[in-house]
Amino acid sequence: MKSKGTAHRPLSTVRRRIVALAGGVGGAKLAHGLAQILPPEDLTIIVNTGDDFEHYGLYICPDLDTVCYTLAGLANPETGWGRVDESWNVIENAARLGGPGWFRLGDRDLGTHLERTRRLREGHCLSEITRDFCKAWGIEHTVLPMTDDCVRTIVETGEGDLEFQEYFVHRHCEPRVKGFRFDGIETAEPAIGAREAIAEAEAVVICPSNPWVSVDPILRIFSPLLSGEGSGVRVVAVSPIIGGETVKGPAAKMYRELGIEPSALAVANHYSGLLTGFVLDRVDALSVKDIEVKSLVTDTLMKSAEDRRRLAQDVLNLIGDL
Ligand code: GDP
Ligand code: CA
Repeated sequence: MKSKGTAHRPLSTVRRRIVALAGGVGGAKLAHGLAQILPPEDLTIIVNTGDDFEHYGLYICPDLDTVCYTLAGLANPETGWGRVDESWNVIENAARLGGPGWFRLGDRDLGTHLERTRRLREGHCLSEITRDFCKAWGIEHTVLPMTDDCVRTIVETGEGDLEFQEYFVHRHCEPRVKGFRFDGIETAEPAIGAREAIAEAEAVVICPSNPWVSVDPILRIFSPLLSGEGSGVRVVAVSPIIGGETVKGPAAKMYRELGIEPSALAVANHYSGLLTGFVLDRVDALSVKDIEVKSLVTDTLMKSAEDRRRLAQDVLNLIGDL
């Protein structure tokens, strides 16, 4: 790997073909751990695009950009999203003129959205554009949007249906959740190369992303390929819930509002029927007895690049034992 974010790949590389399913912040961290261990040809990361939206006429892919910036070593380490060394001149000036300022778009980040939007308007598809951007950023592992078709996550709340970013960023996840809808999902096709990556994979890793809004849209497209007749692929999930809480974001709140106690067990149950293995945190060790698939208890909080690599290695070891 040329990029500084993944420069420390050890010599003893493991040979396993892995597909990782990822949302934004939590997904990007484990994807980065896997990228530190696996050679580029052995890792494909399929990323949620249900959060995508248009703002100021630009096409924005929050999860895809978080994953790419993280792999490229360009991510803001404090927020987990957006770019490091960012400035905010454009959005602040637009807001001063009366434009919406609630969705923070940094100056460097805006370059991504400008060029992506220009290429989409020229007729290029998102997977092609993502491939080119990865090349430009020095990312050698394959990053794919889940689909090149338009899917929009809608949060059904006590205050009506809200587009995902309206709920997540503008309304700070305050409206009470009643359910989720993924408009366009029925007709969405896997992105170019995604079907093949899964067919060739030894295992699919569901990253510690929000099960409701980051992973479910991806699974709605891909679960027929994972659980279908003759599919020998192993599926391992890592819990994003530690000690009944999220590290960041609204997943635990969503569980509660939907009448489910948030826990690692609830996450395992969420994916039930799909999993062959599960990874949960040491603080949740007591839940292991209730989880139906082979489980690994380990430290799952990723504070450093080394934590990410170590958790990724634990996940690969579990896959090897299945
Ligand atoms: P988003 O799309 O940016 O909201 O990010 P994701 O859906 O990929 O990730 C959000 C989830 O990541 C939250 O439920 C967090 O609890 C989880 N998460 C974030 N950091 C960590 C971590 O270090 N370890 C674990 N296990 N989960 C994490
Ligand atoms: Ca997201």
